[in-house]
Amino acid sequence: MRPECRHNVTWEGSTGVVACSNCGAVEWWSDGRPLDPAEGMARLFGRFELVARLPSLRSPAPETLAYRSPSRRATARLAVFPPHQWLLVADGLWLSHDGATLLLCPTDPILAANMSSAGRHQEVRTR
Ligand SMILES: [Zn+2]
Repeated sequence: MRPECRHNVTWEGSTGVVACSNCGAVEWWSDGRPLDPAEGMARLFGRFELVARLPSLRSPAPETLAYRSPSRRATARLAVFPPHQWLLVADGLWLSHDGATLLLCPTDPILAANMSSAGRHQEVRTR
């Protein structure tokens, strides 16, 4: 945390997220307690569908997975994270977005295999 940081929690239902574009810090909260990041990802983006695998473009791992939102309401959840920036949101998992498409970049090889093993239209699964 830097002096100019403002680590405010943004609430999406009962899921609270701190995502700092200044220092890259990410925190997950629920009911006044830290929330397991995988659970937080499932709550926010569990219904997003994998639509493309992209070669790495300045992302932290060789492959980036692109996900489509199931609804306009779900798309709005992306706004809890600053756009056009890679943030480490869980162990071995980086997230970015452009306001419409969710981009996930797993640096953990087991997680990467789990996330990209099935075919298209696979939902976000970060465990
Ligand atoms: Zn910060």
